[in-house]
Amino acid sequence: MLLDKIIHIFLPNRCVCCNQVISAQSSICDDCANGLDKVSGKLCNICGAPEGSCDCKRHPKWFDRCVSPFYYNGSAKLAVLNIKHHKIKQTADFLSKYMAQSVLGEYCGMTFDCIAFVPMFKSKQKRKGYNHSRLLADALSQYLGLPVIDVLKQTVSAKPQHLLPAKEREQNVSGIYSVVGDVFNKNILLVDDIITTGSTLSECARVLRLEGAAGVYCVTAATRGKSKEK
Ligand SMILES: [Zn+2]
Ligand SMILES: [Zn+2]
Repeated sequence: MLLDKIIHIFLPNRCVCCNQVISAQSSICDDCANGLDKVSGKLCNICGAPEGSCDCKRHPKWFDRCVSPFYYNGSAKLAVLNIKHHKIKQTADFLSKYMAQSVLGEYCGMTFDCIAFVPMFKSKQKRKGYNHSRLLADALSQYLGLPVIDVLKQTVSAKPQHLLPAKEREQNVSGIYSVVGDVFNKNILLVDDIITTGSTLSECARVLRLEGAAGVYCVTAATRGKSKEK
């Protein structure tokens, strides 16, 4: 107990979303807990966005389905940005706990062979020091008891998707990924931090399917389907 207090003085516990110092017993501050915007209502049964707000009918996706626990706003957005810019394991653990709930609830009764994650271009990852999708995948594997496979590679540099208009995103990621391991007949859970148009996940799913993956089901921490901050 005394040791816990001493650790807290020198290494204060911080909120996984906003990073402010909080008591050692919790992982999230009250404000951020209240600001979590969980997905709700009628959702597209392919990409998980609110019904009518996606382009799945005009642009079919290569993945089977995508689920996410949160909308990309409020404190979930802070948490996603946190792991995008800093390698904070506690934040990845927090998000992946909810991602695991989405998987167990929405993909109920399904069995997966492994977890794959959206890769990062080699030089970019070297500069950054880690891949935040891998950070989420590793944390999720502890909740789901599934192995993480490092089979997807980004072999061509591309512009960051979030800087491009929706219609250019599909073209931007076309042909930039390849598979470097055995995925034949495997039912794969594919992880990323956020789904927007779904182009990145769809392109990853396309190359996995080309190599014989039996199924590609996605889970992301957040979906940009709806925003309270219009
Ligand atoms: Zn907070
Ligand atoms: Zn959709």
